[in-house]
Amino acid sequence: MSKRDYYEVLGVSKDATKEEIKKAYRKLARKYHPDVSKEPDAAEKFKEVKEAYEVLSNEQKRAQYDQFGHAGMNGGGFQGGGGFSADDFGGFGDIFDMFFGGGGRRDPNAPRQGADLKYSMEIDFEEAVFGKETDIQIPKEETCGTCHGSGAKPGTNSETCSHCNGTGQLNMEQTTPFGRIVNKRVCHYCNGTGKLIKEKCSTCGGSGRVKSRKKIHIKIPAGIDDGQQIRVSGQGEAGINGGPAGDLYVVIRVRPHEFFERDGDDIFCDVPLTFAQAALGDEIEVPTVHGKVKLKIPAGTQSGTFFRLRGKGVPNVHGRGTGDQHVRVRVVTPQHLTERQKELLREFNELSGNGATQEQEDNLFQKMKRAFKGNAKN
Ligand SMILES: [Zn+2]
Ligand SMILES: [Zn+2]
Repeated sequence: MSKRDYYEVLGVSKDATKEEIKKAYRKLARKYHPDVSKEPDAAEKFKEVKEAYEVLSNEQKRAQYDQFGHAGMNGGGFQGGGGFSADDFGGFGDIFDMFFGGGGRRDPNAPRQGADLKYSMEIDFEEAVFGKETDIQIPKEETCGTCHGSGAKPGTNSETCSHCNGTGQLNMEQTTPFGRIVNKRVCHYCNGTGKLIKEKCSTCGGSGRVKSRKKIHIKIPAGIDDGQQIRVSGQGEAGINGGPAGDLYVVIRVRPHEFFERDGDDIFCDVPLTFAQAALGDEIEVPTVHGKVKLKIPAGTQSGTFFRLRGKGVPNVHGRGTGDQHVRVRVVTPQHLTERQKELLREFNELSGNGATQEQEDNLFQKMKRAFKGNAKN
């Protein structure tokens, strides 16, 4: 989600004076005010303009924004503007991302859904195949336990803002040559919340929300694949003004296996064979995620031949059966031969012509000879 630069939103220069900012804001607010504007995306634009003005009209916020950009505005308290990074939690290793629930509503006291959270988690190949239950610790914002979300120090109450009567908006009357115009603007006494807190809660600084870590029990289903995600309902951030909490999405990353490769519900692997095993046939043991399996290699097996082990793949994550394991045999040419082995191989070579079987003579070698003849013609 890319956010437009606040100066760009208001159409003013970086060194604009307070007056210029105010003027630009009034003009745009009038243009996009949802009550009067005919523009299709007026509400969104109005919200954007309002947010830009809230920051740039406040010296402290403006200085922070100039230095850190939008990142410096985290936890600023305006609509949808909350947010924090994993860095806030000191060395929290997992990638952490968030996007916003709720949306642009005008009533500052309306319940809003908390933000959804996205959490990325790495698991082993076998854990993905068989599933896993685990606890994860995630950083999140929760309703402050000290003030129960009101933001007021215990024993004190937040009261309705007397400046805006709890609406979060102030009416500014202006006399112009065309008559009187009533401008609505965000109440700067309560920052548009409609509530004034006399004494702020010291735990949350008046925001009503605190950052914490929460342990959540996750069930990873058998057969989950890399990139798939698990939705944990209601475990996102706390709602605002009594709204429902957001959801938590756990994105699964599967570490590659050094021997097995996965494609959907099927598993692939390469198994080495000696020349003698391939030529004479053998019964070998092949590892699968379900344990060792015996595999019969017929005599005369070529390198690169696939064998299928039915039902030895990955259980389908939706419960539709289990995949297969595909075993590709690789004939390994011996590299360090003893004198005796070399002697036997030479003898073998003499007995079988060029070392090829009769079938190979008929197929591969004949094709090669024909290819040479073909080239000679050109
Ligand atoms: Zn509090
Ligand atoms: Zn107010």
